[in-house]
Amino acid sequence: MWQLAEIFNDLTVVAIPTRTTFRGVSVREAALFRGPAGWSEFAPFVEYDEKVCEPWLRAALEGAYKTWNDLVRSEVAINATLPRVEISRVPEILSRFPGAKTVKIKVDDFVQDSELVEAALDFNPDFKIRLDVNGGWDLEEALLNLYNYNLRFGKVFEYIEQPTLAISDLKKLKSEIPMKIAIDESIRTALDSGFEDVKEFADIAIIKWAPSGGATMANNLITKIGLPAVISSALDTGIGISHGLALAASQAELNFDCGLATLSLFEGDVIKSGLEISAGTIKVKRVEPDTDLLDKYLAPQERSIWWQERITTIWNNGFGERWLSEQLD
Ligand SMILES: [Mg+2]
Repeated sequence: MWQLAEIFNDLTVVAIPTRTTFRGVSVREAALFRGPAGWSEFAPFVEYDEKVCEPWLRAALEGAYKTWNDLVRSEVAINATLPRVEISRVPEILSRFPGAKTVKIKVDDFVQDSELVEAALDFNPDFKIRLDVNGGWDLEEALLNLYNYNLRFGKVFEYIEQPTLAISDLKKLKSEIPMKIAIDESIRTALDSGFEDVKEFADIAIIKWAPSGGATMANNLITKIGLPAVISSALDTGIGISHGLALAASQAELNFDCGLATLSLFEGDVIKSGLEISAGTIKVKRVEPDTDLLDKYLAPQERSIWWQERITTIWNNGFGERWLSEQLD
């Protein structure tokens, strides 16, 4: 028996195909397990190193062992997510987010990807548009591309997510462009920093349940950063999404649609029902995986062992001892 089987009860690794390749992923793997508070999920992307994975493990354990914070709303408004796909597929993908008022579009450039924006606005002329660049531009590219986007589409943009990676570039960009800037990667690579000068380079913070280290850490992060937060997911299964929804639903202030509808990008899920999008919102509740769906998406045994070893390595490198002692406090 796996040595950590008692802490990670019923650990089950699933592999769910995605409908389109999204950030290079076409099959999403996740390790699901349950604790006294319910089911939880550990699913850092496979290329992430041990140090990056540690907050994800903390989040996963919190989800299984701690009850949720008080919720101040029972449903959460979500945004559609449009990956870089063939233009002909745009309506099919966007129709999977019924009622969404906002769409986040992954872009690499202006020349090709402005067509995605055009197609999204054809689908819904009232869409608020977010562009996510994942830090892919340097300052010059960002200035040129965003100048062109602004010229062609005007005021449709709610914000631009992580146009460049370097903080110094974001600062220059912020004083030059008419759009608001949201940071995502800049948060995850600086979790321990103080974010004292964050208002000089960003207007909005993208906050994710798992990479932040769970709800407690995410709330600390939101307070520390001091910018309006958009609660978002990291391509989680329904289990991880339910925790993201709880984080969003516990916020006293929530002024943006949340990036928590990414289940629509999967071919299927481990949850049978309960997380459907209705009128652009998803209801918040604890969910359990369905046994048949767990069977259907069960990962090959060598992948299961790989995930067990991944958890064991982080656990044995000091994390386990710290986590166990925190439970006694
Ligand atoms: Mg992002």
